[in-house]
Amino acid sequence: MSEKTDIKSMNLAEVTAFVANMGEKPFRAKQLYQWMHQKLSASFDEMTNLSNALREKLKETCSYTLLKQVDVQISAQDGTRKYLFLLEDGNVIESVLMRYKHGNSVCISSQVGCRMGCRFCASTLDGLVRGLRPSEMLEQIYRIEKDIGERVSNVVVMGTGEPLDNYDNLLKFIELLTDENGLHISQRNLTVSTCGIVPKIRELAEEKLQMTLALSLHASSQEKRKELMPVANKYDLQEVLEACRFYFEKTGRRITFEYSLVAGVNDTNADALELTKLIADMNCHVNLIPVNPIKERNFVQPDNTAVLAFKNKLEKNGINVTIRREMGRDIDGACGQLRKRYMER
Ligand code: SAH
Repeated sequence: MSEKTDIKSMNLAEVTAFVANMGEKPFRAKQLYQWMHQKLSASFDEMTNLSNALREKLKETCSYTLLKQVDVQISAQDGTRKYLFLLEDGNVIESVLMRYKHGNSVCISSQVGCRMGCRFCASTLDGLVRGLRPSEMLEQIYRIEKDIGERVSNVVVMGTGEPLDNYDNLLKFIELLTDENGLHISQRNLTVSTCGIVPKIRELAEEKLQMTLALSLHASSQEKRKELMPVANKYDLQEVLEACRFYFEKTGRRITFEYSLVAGVNDTNADALELTKLIADMNCHVNLIPVNPIKERNFVQPDNTAVLAFKNKLEKNGINVTIRREMGRDIDGACGQLRKRYMER
């Protein structure tokens, strides 16, 4: 949008070089960085230990990314909060806070819209607008911490967008999120979910990060996967699994496979058996998600018995499996539906 520097997307070394150009000492850079990433300031004006002159110079040369909360829906059942945030360019994005016994978890968006086209997903219906900048990914967590006045301990990049389709910004986001001068969230408390962009999974593996990679599988054969996920036309199922094995080899981190159960499509006994064979040799974990129906498609959730039967079948064959607890069922709408409703208004 503006030509100004997005200072909240810079790491400490970059901020240090940037303010050195203004004749400022490194400790000023650290103060500035901490105002942005620890105290979660809403403006340069709040940074009272920086000189007026420096603050004025920063305002002239930098943009200050700040998300504006336009809506929040709070679940009466479990305290889940769905936020709608406005970006500086007028786009809106969705983020979700989930409260668990072990801490607060935030699910963030990585893009405005998505171009992956998964058949059951609401976030992709209107295509991709743009990738989010690192500052815009961080801000979702910052504004939620400010809103609830509590720390966030876990972050999942599972909201709207394909994170590996916004790769460089994602890596920078991870660097800043885990920085000791920022929120200092441990890589182990971070999960990134992908529909399976093979070259990027391999590139990410080489980074040897300690975060969890979640792979959206959703089918146990190449044919079925192609019907649900257009990305499968580009990357064959075996290629995707090879990349996952490579990720485990490089990082030692067990892969999570996400599998959205759709009645009559991928939920039969035969599917469970085929899935077992596919991943039996892998160090992995399967997360079953009864599909969240969207009005644009006629996908239906299997009933509880079918979900449990599917789980048992996997378990009997020695696969680690959990059924995703559905948080905020009462405020509902599948991922991307809050945003979509807002845009339609
Ligand atoms: N693009 C990434 C991350 C965003 S989607 C990915 O594909 O993994 C996060 C997860 O939610 C993915 O596993 C996705 O397939 C799943 N998902 C999307 N819409 C869904 C729906 N309506 N019901 C159940 N799961 C859904």
